[in-house]
Amino acid sequence: MLAVSDAEAIILNLVQPLDSQQDTEVVDLVAASNRVLASPVTSLLHFPHWDNSAMDGYAVRYEDVQYCSSENPAVLEIVEEIQAGYKPKIPIQPGQAARILTGAILPQGADTVVIQEVTRRKDGEVTILTAPKPQQFVRYRGSYYQSGTQLLPKGIRLTAPEIAVLAAAQCQQVRVYRYPRVAILSTGDELVTIEQPLQPGQIVDSNQYALAALVRQSAAEPLMLGIVKDEPEDIQKAIAYALANADIVLSSGGVSVGDYDYVEQILESSGGEIQIRAVRMKPGKPLTVATFSSPQAHLYFGLPGNPAAVFVTFWRFVQPVIKKLSGLAEGWEPVFVRARSLQDLRSNGERETYLWGQLFLSHEGVYEFRLAEGSHSSGNLINLAQTNALAILQVGETLVPKGEKVRVLKIN
Ligand code: AMP
Ligand code: MG
Repeated sequence: MLAVSDAEAIILNLVQPLDSQQDTEVVDLVAASNRVLASPVTSLLHFPHWDNSAMDGYAVRYEDVQYCSSENPAVLEIVEEIQAGYKPKIPIQPGQAARILTGAILPQGADTVVIQEVTRRKDGEVTILTAPKPQQFVRYRGSYYQSGTQLLPKGIRLTAPEIAVLAAAQCQQVRVYRYPRVAILSTGDELVTIEQPLQPGQIVDSNQYALAALVRQSAAEPLMLGIVKDEPEDIQKAIAYALANADIVLSSGGVSVGDYDYVEQILESSGGEIQIRAVRMKPGKPLTVATFSSPQAHLYFGLPGNPAAVFVTFWRFVQPVIKKLSGLAEGWEPVFVRARSLQDLRSNGERETYLWGQLFLSHEGVYEFRLAEGSHSSGNLINLAQTNALAILQVGETLVPKGEKVRVLKIN
């Protein structure tokens, strides 16, 4: 049985990111939010576009005001009033200044802005009472960004700040990676859809919805293929269809050692190469990973059927895979923090154990982990609600006492 860290290394190594030429589309800027940029962006504009004032005040020649003070003020003639959006017309000569407002273009001849708070104005003259520093409150053209250089690199997720940058650069459309497509299959004779009436012994296929939501939250497109009976022929057909129509296939159930667990043998008979058969973790032990050289999908995850195992194995292994696949240049690795546990955390020590709960910051700014109340059986789905983190007990570790630090996987 593989250690979790070894399984992770194997899995991440198997991921082939989307192609930055072929697997892209051009979208309007508003639709680009949360997408991954597929080619670097450059702009023909400088930022700022012009030398401009950072404050309301007076544009001056530093030479004229460098020695002034309240005892020895400089008196300058005001030759123009420059507001934002206005192009100055009069160059500043010795002994002159221009009234200037925040964001407005600095006039020719001026090199420094004096804030209005240290001035007095009377008619056409301004009296400067305090010497500024040279070039104070001037934002120079190109000082934030030089035209023609890289504005944004490819492989980053476009969130509000990047969208704002692109808007400022007048990029109306951007090239992004297409969404990764993830096929979802549920196996099991006992499963019914959310619409069907429940007969004794049956359960609802919640994994289909769990996985669709998880896939969407990972900025990928779920392809919900529904329930497949525990019949080898049905499973084989469903897997073939899924492989032909998605980048990644996720199935749940049928990977354990029961009489009706056919997934692994069908993967092999369909030409898949089994990379992982079991992982030393709880829940999630029967996780099966296979690769295919064709057709479209390369990577197949046979997740265990138990709902909690589905979530844990998705968060631990599948989410980083989707992020890496989606073209992100970095930041796809899972994020761990250390947190103080608010309860005793227990495991039998045999496998790396994942316990669900909530991570938050205490008033003192310390991470704390609160274990979800109720059973941590992998069959219990109900107390997974509101989970935002998983506490992890290492192999051999049977207790993290209340108040002690524990390693925690952050979700999202
Ligand atoms: P299996 O790995 O196929 O033996 O499934 C283990 C258990 O997980 C089953 O007995 C069900 O209780 C549960 N299970 C399997 N598939 C699903 C599903 N799609 N949705 C919810 N629970 C499931
Ligand atoms: Mg089953």
